[in-house]
Amino acid sequence: MIPKSHPRYLSLMKRERVIEFFDRGILAKAGLIAHGRGEAFDYILGEKTNDFAVKAIKAAASLLLLAEKPVISVNGNTIALAFDEVIELAKLLNCPIEVNLFYKTEDRIRAIKKFFEENRDKIKDIEINFGGDMEIPNLDSNRRFVSEYFYNSDVVLVPLEDGDRAEALVKMGKKVITIDLNPLSRTARTSTITIVDEITRAMPLLVKYIKEFKNKNKEELKEIIDSYDNKKTLEEALRFMSNRLAKLKL
Ligand code: ATP
Ligand code: MG
Repeated sequence: MIPKSHPRYLSLMKRERVIEFFDRGILAKAGLIAHGRGEAFDYILGEKTNDFAVKAIKAAASLLLLAEKPVISVNGNTIALAFDEVIELAKLLNCPIEVNLFYKTEDRIRAIKKFFEENRDKIKDIEINFGGDMEIPNLDSNRRFVSEYFYNSDVVLVPLEDGDRAEALVKMGKKVITIDLNPLSRTARTSTITIVDEITRAMPLLVKYIKEFKNKNKEELKEIIDSYDNKKTLEEALRFMSNRLAKLKL
C-alpha cells in the first residue's frame, strides 16, 4: 500500500495501475517503457495541467462536438489509465470505441475482452470494435486494420498514439486529437490537436468541457477551433518546459 501522504502518491498509483494491467496481459511490455518516458516529460511540466493544455482540450472538445463520425481509439495504456473517462466520452458523443494495439496478440485481445466483460454494466450500449478488414493506407504495421466505421470516421481521438499511425491518419484526411506529454514527438507534431498533458488529468477535463460546450452553437464551436493553432500550442509547451528548467535550482 502506498500511503496517501507520500509525496509521489499520484505518480506511484499510476505506476501500480500500469503494472496491474501489464500483469493482466492488457498492457504490453513496451507500454511500461512508454509510460516511463511520459513520466519524465511530466516531471518537467510540473505534473500539472498547464494553460496550453487547457487551450488544446477546449479545441478538442469543440472538434469532437462538431464531428459527424467521431471515434475513440484506445490501446492498453489508455485502458489502464483512463477507461472510465473513455466510456463517459463515448456516451456523451454517442460514438464507438476502437481497440487498436501495437503489439496485437490473441492473448492480449482475450485479456481486454475479459476486462470489458467484468465491466459490462459500464459499457452496455457502447459499440466496441477490435479493428476490421479496412486498411489505413501508408501504414505497414498491423495497426492498419480498422473497422469500417473507423475507416470512414472524420475525427479520431487517440490518446497516446504512435507517430507513424498519427501521420497516416492525417494523410487520410482525418482530424486527429491526441494526448501526448512529449511536445517533440512525431505524434504531437503531426496531429491536428495535441494535448500536452498526462492522460489521467486531461481526460476528465475533456469530459468536463464537452459537457459544458454542449450548450454552445455550431458557430461558437467553430470559432474556438478556427482560433486554435497547434504549432503555437506546442511551442508554448516547449517554452514552458525550457523556462521551467532554466529557473529550477537545487
Ligand atoms: P512518436 O511515435 O510520436 O514519434 P515515441 O515513439 O517517442 O513518439 P511512443 O513510444 O510512441 O513515443 O509513445 C510514448 C509517449 O507516450 C511518451 O513519450 C509520452 O509522451 C506519451 N505518454 C506515455 N504515457 C503517457 C501518459 N500517461 N499521458 C500522456 N502521455 C503519455
Ligand atoms: Mg512511437
